[in-house]
Amino acid sequence: MKQSAAGHGLGPLTKELIGKIGDRGWIGMSWPEEYGGRAADLIDQYIFEEELARARVPLNLGNFIEQAPAIMFAGTEAQKKYFLPRIVKGEVTFALGYSEPSGGTDLGSLKTRAVEDEDGFVINGQKVFTTRAEQSSHIYLMARTDPDAPKHKGISIFLVPMDTPGITVQPLWTLPGGRTNEVFFEDVRVPKDTLLGERNKGWYIGASALNLGRAGARRYCTYVSPFEDLMRFLKEDEIGRELAKDPVVQDKVAQLYCEARVAKLFTMRSLSMVRRGENPPYQISSEKVWGPEFQVRATEAASQIMGDYHQLWDEDQAPNGGSFPRQYVSAMVSTFGHGSTQVMRTAIARRGLDLPRE
Ligand SMILES: Cc1cc2nc3c(=O)[nH]c(=O)nc-3n(C[C@H](O)[C@H](O)[C@H](O)COP(=O)(O)OP(=O)(O)OC[C@H]3O[C@@H](n4cnc5c(N)ncnc54)[C@H](O)[C@@H]3O)c2cc1C
Repeated sequence: MKQSAAGHGLGPLTKELIGKIGDRGWIGMSWPEEYGGRAADLIDQYIFEEELARARVPLNLGNFIEQAPAIMFAGTEAQKKYFLPRIVKGEVTFALGYSEPSGGTDLGSLKTRAVEDEDGFVINGQKVFTTRAEQSSHIYLMARTDPDAPKHKGISIFLVPMDTPGITVQPLWTLPGGRTNEVFFEDVRVPKDTLLGERNKGWYIGASALNLGRAGARRYCTYVSPFEDLMRFLKEDEIGRELAKDPVVQDKVAQLYCEARVAKLFTMRSLSMVRRGENPPYQISSEKVWGPEFQVRATEAASQIMGDYHQLWDEDQAPNGGSFPRQYVSAMVSTFGHGSTQVMRTAIARRGLDLPRE
């Protein structure tokens, strides 16, 4: 089977590219200069991220919008000085070590244990669906440090190098030709300075960074990419140009265009709140409901409009290098990755609309 574009990731070429743009201070553009940024406006950073995403640069932007802010917020000065400039240059990359076989949504029930002793912590347990664990230098790991505390209160976050003895990575292959992983921890010994923030405060640090990671240019571009690819097909492909004459097709894509603009407005609203120093919970949740559901609708519309041509996925034969069937399958992941649509709706109802908890 040929390698599909879905298999592209943080290989040597991407690392080299991140290094080059990071050297110019463009990636963490809004960060302080001492940490490798340019102290620029968050909007400038958004525009740059959107251009990178639109050019389909396989950049793990989660590291810049999620892990880096968490380190800035909760890290020691030594952690900030070590990690932030290296993240900007692509020398440090994080896999997200949250989900476990016991569940993803109910993160508070995680079972991976980190037991403190004189020298540091000893970690035992298992993570699952740890995407890019095989390519990353570190894992941003949530583990239980106090088994007797209420479930959200006994959790801490660790910044653990992936080459620490006792860590094993096993691949899990997903339908669009992509890879995620299981990660096993067996008596993994880490020093105390791998702890991010205070012990047992990991839930609060992680939840607030996770919320920020739900927003941003990269996510917006993921939501709209099936619509953009469909438009390119209708304008540039010979068969597409014929289909584009049909008024039913025109009606469908005009509706999708309106929905894409709403997705953009949701993203811009969250961004302007983050720019003012807020971490908007239900506004980001609205964006996280609308964007992925729009993405799914756009992939379904592409399938209806393109008919049999939608099924082709060989890079050399298929329209747009075979992006359509891949997008059709992977759109669903957006609806639950980083918080499921159902849970986002609960957040909107309770935090945004002030409805009572049961
Ligand atoms: C391709 C892929 C990549 C991933 N990458 C990562 C990664 O890098 N790092 C990582 O940590 N995780 C990753 N995940 C895991 C992902 O975050 C979880 O799948 C997700 O959080 C959902 O968790 P779950 O699969 O355990 O489903 P569950 O939590 O069991 O949810 C099942 C269903 O129940 C619903 N549900 C659950 N709780 C509630 C509730 N309270 N109210 C209403 N409905 C509810 C959910 O919406 C969902 O529909 C990845 C998953 C996939 C498939």
